[in-house]
Amino acid sequence: MNAILVVAEQLDGELTEATKELVTAARTIGGRVVVGIIEPGLEEAAALMDGVDLVVRVDGGSGTGDFDHEQRAHSVRVLIDHVSPDTVLLAWSIRSASYAPAVAEELDAAYVADAISLARGDDGTLVAVRSMYAGKVHAELELASGVPAIVLVRPGVWAGAGDAGSAAAVETLEVPRVGESRVRHREYVLPAPGVDLTQADVIFAIGRGVGAEENIALFSELAQSMGVLLGSSRPLVDVGWLPSAHQVGQTGVTVKPKVYVAFGISGALQHVAGMKDSKMVVAVNTDPTAPIFGIADVGYNADILEVAACMRELV
Ligand SMILES: Cc1cc2nc3c(=O)[nH]c(=O)nc-3n(C[C@H](O)[C@H](O)[C@H](O)COP(=O)(O)OP(=O)(O)OC[C@H]3O[C@@H](n4cnc5c(N)ncnc54)[C@H](O)[C@@H]3O)c2cc1C
Repeated sequence: MNAILVVAEQLDGELTEATKELVTAARTIGGRVVVGIIEPGLEEAAALMDGVDLVVRVDGGSGTGDFDHEQRAHSVRVLIDHVSPDTVLLAWSIRSASYAPAVAEELDAAYVADAISLARGDDGTLVAVRSMYAGKVHAELELASGVPAIVLVRPGVWAGAGDAGSAAAVETLEVPRVGESRVRHREYVLPAPGVDLTQADVIFAIGRGVGAEENIALFSELAQSMGVLLGSSRPLVDVGWLPSAHQVGQTGVTVKPKVYVAFGISGALQHVAGMKDSKMVVAVNTDPTAPIFGIADVGYNADILEVAACMRELV
């Protein structure tokens, strides 16, 4: 049976949500799911994820922390040798992007960045979809069998694996350090608390239709009083009206809330790329021809400032 190696990532000593999503992605393509742990202390949580068949913990691997790209690349190569996977899944993250291409090059493996869909073709070939040209094109890539494919998966596309109830086996693999790291990691800056849009059930997202920076308060207060998170299109982030953690879209975050309300957002491809999997989309826009109405379940041809003022009176 073919094996899929999932390379785990941590944040503050916990498995990231993106790692749990990789396990779900691995299940969808089928095969034995092996989770590789490079940072110590994650193996128990990894073994409890639903769908995991085996956890392999690298001992002596990271040492100077998980931004040590050279050591991580080395550990992943050793994991690949040990597990012999046909597919290696990593999160499309700042960590993986800094070393995974080097691993692929060294192994002469297929490499896919920012995969948004994975499936097996009729003959068992892995088919990955990635978006290109600012989201205007989706490329379908058939990955040759025989060498491992290294695939970086966009966070937020798959649901995270739940708890299995019982733990998978854990193996330990000794991996000596490759030598003194040339990488000095200084700081990891987290988004402001309360704006992890990837986990939100309801998002009120505002676009250029807000008109002026002072109007943002109306929407952020409304969102806060209703217990939902505030998202935005890119222009509001570009002009510095909102921090980048609020940006939804191809160069922002991918979200899949139960309800996504787009206030004054036209529905450009690059924005839609990040919210199209929302269960219900509500759009408010003064332009009846705005593309957002093409994907909205409910549309209001109305002024967002008037709609928000009415909503504020109701809550
Ligand atoms: C490489 C690349 C990556 C990008 N990545 C992203 C990304 O990640 N996320 C993203 O959002 N964009 C991204 N963009 C930008 C994207 O192409 C659009 O320019 C952007 O999404 C438009 O934002 P918007 O809908 O707020 O603004 P606009 O397109 O200007 O739309 C504003 C809308 O508000 C409506 N409106 C105006 N006033 C009112 C009112 N009072 N009441 C109701 N409606 C009103 C208008 O009718 C209009 O439809 C990217 C672009 C490129 C080239």
